[in-house]
Amino acid sequence: MLDEITRQAWLYGRGFLLNGKVADYIPELSKANPVYLGICIKTLSGEMIEFGDVSHRFTIQSISKVITLAMALEKLGYDEVFSHVMMEPSGDAFNSILKLDTASNRPYNPMINAGAIDVIGLLAPVCDFDELLAFSRKLCQDDEITMDFDVYHSESVTGDRNRAIGYLLKSKGVLHGDVLSAVDLYIRMCSLSVTARSLAGLGQVLAAGGVIPDTEERVLSANTVRVVQTLMFTCGMYDRSGEMAVRVGIPSKSGVGGGIMSCVTDRMGIGIYGPSLDEKGNSIGGANMLEYLSKELRLHVFDAGKGIW
Ligand code: GLN
Repeated sequence: MLDEITRQAWLYGRGFLLNGKVADYIPELSKANPVYLGICIKTLSGEMIEFGDVSHRFTIQSISKVITLAMALEKLGYDEVFSHVMMEPSGDAFNSILKLDTASNRPYNPMINAGAIDVIGLLAPVCDFDELLAFSRKLCQDDEITMDFDVYHSESVTGDRNRAIGYLLKSKGVLHGDVLSAVDLYIRMCSLSVTARSLAGLGQVLAAGGVIPDTEERVLSANTVRVVQTLMFTCGMYDRSGEMAVRVGIPSKSGVGGGIMSCVTDRMGIGIYGPSLDEKGNSIGGANMLEYLSKELRLHVFDAGKGIW
């Protein structure tokens, strides 16, 4: 049954692909094929269900914000992290500078660029790229994750807006240390190449409360998982997070590379690849697949009387 509903969701999602377009503000991303769409589900009982382009590698982009936030919470703790960044949805685009300049010194949340760059700046003195890469491989249960140099280079040469965010943070006394190296580390993390399967692996670990179900190894504390999932729920789909909370109701994080990573507590991780994006930057096929799955399987966090999955 889970198989069949996932296949239906995939077919449904494909119907939306021509309504979106691939990101092109990072030139290398414009090479993506908009008709690709893949979904992988990893249940906590070890079942794996896949349809479409699930082994195609693409860059993780904003979904890396989940990993860096998790690392910061593990290494620095809740109080330190949230004395630098707030936990409120911004309602603005992911790369907006508006509220940071006018409304608050601390970025609104760690799921937007300003918040993620701030968190990376905090992490930089205690954690380098290699450690973050190893952590990403572990969380995604994918040892083949590497940095895609072409995307990294493409974003580095066009990343003035992110550098502007970094300098604004520094001018407000929020970001300490070297701005350019913090933004460089942020871009490296956005350039990690993953698959829908890797994202399902990450979602599965979050759904399991921080434990890798296959090995029973604890990789995140339960509190880190709770904080990360809440911020995914309220802020993870950019300025469409509120609508997604109503229509889908599953903590999810998207990236402009076309990925979405979702987790259904105690039940499953979901990884999606579909580079055709809606106007906010979310995978258009992916968001619609999630809505279909949520309704059919009763996965909404506020659905009473859970289904069997
Ligand atoms: N690297 C991208 C950027 O900073 C990530 C954005 C995203 O996926 N929304 O613009």
